[in-house]
Amino acid sequence: MQDRISDKLKAGERIDRDEARFLFERADDATLRTLSAHVRGRFHAADEASYLIMAIVNYTNVCVAKCDYCSFYRLPGHDEGYLLSFEQVCERIDRLVDFGGTLVGFNGGFNPKLDIRDYAEMFTKINARYPNVAFMEMTVAEFMYACKVSKCSYEDGARLLADSGTRWVTGGGAEVMDDGFRMRHSAGKQSVERFYDAQRAILGAGVGSTATMVIGFDETLDERLNHLEGLRSFQDEVDGGLASFLCWTYKAYGTELGGAEITTEEYLRWLAVCRIYLDNFVHIRASVLTQNDAALRGLSYGANDFDLPTEDEVTQTAGATISHDFGRILDAARNEGFRAIHRHALPRRPTAEHGYQASGLERSEVLAPAQRQAAGRLPVVSP
Ligand code: SF4
Repeated sequence: MQDRISDKLKAGERIDRDEARFLFERADDATLRTLSAHVRGRFHAADEASYLIMAIVNYTNVCVAKCDYCSFYRLPGHDEGYLLSFEQVCERIDRLVDFGGTLVGFNGGFNPKLDIRDYAEMFTKINARYPNVAFMEMTVAEFMYACKVSKCSYEDGARLLADSGTRWVTGGGAEVMDDGFRMRHSAGKQSVERFYDAQRAILGAGVGSTATMVIGFDETLDERLNHLEGLRSFQDEVDGGLASFLCWTYKAYGTELGGAEITTEEYLRWLAVCRIYLDNFVHIRASVLTQNDAALRGLSYGANDFDLPTEDEVTQTAGATISHDFGRILDAARNEGFRAIHRHALPRRPTAEHGYQASGLERSEVLAPAQRQAAGRLPVVSP
């Protein structure tokens, strides 16, 4: 089986579900590194990786979805529920800019008080105030819920966002794209089919989007493979329209589901399977947020891109720790044999050369904010 897979990849052919299963269950690590590097090499230089500094701004923790793997949310009416004001959101963005960051992803909960027009209005103001920062303005899951609150179709919701200047959302809220998994853990989220309906509407309106996956709950290998199968087929349908795929790992602290984290080794093996199977994704991203420096080993398992996160309350509440020692994390990439290139936001559609646009900043310029922080002049967000 291993030889057959290797021959297929050399011939530019796809592997199927059974072959992906074989790789995850039976291939050794060296084989996974070699095969994933082969597919990665179709798009990227072998010794290059890209990154940027970003914050995830959690503008509200009020949520009615009640996912049992989440320790971040508070139900409406709870004493600890919050919704940040516009100025408070701007303070978070200012903090990122002080760190030298260039991208903000917004991620909150299913807050029944927020209409899709509220999002559109807030992001119009934010885009006007921060013309040099890129924003991923909500997750697909939040978009779906906001459309429900607003009693509008996904098409109308996406058009409204596009008309108000939204350029990006993220494919967050996907976790494991299997209806059985969703019913077990997050019945408040919509079905897989509806998730892709929303993605279709978002891309159709000209707004960029991405794909994500979270592993390490209690999902079966079949459920994981269902995720990959559905995603590859959707990415074919939209002609490579999702800009990137990011896989991260479940953090168990304080959640109703509980359990223990999977090992970094399992994460890396799965990342390699993702790169090999998802051959229609140019950018496969590793998660520093949940794996810290060890995520950079993922560059040898097919990933080509990563964030240096400055804050994310959702994962921090569940036990993630964030380091602002960016120099050390970048050294981890170098130690893995990669030149880390600071980049701009990814293009919304794959470019002919499949690359990313380097920001042109030198490493020393990128690291300067972190050095200021180390000197105690900027606030420490975590751990
Ligand atoms: S994961 Fe998101 S949607 Fe689910 S409960 Fe937490 S905040 Fe709500």
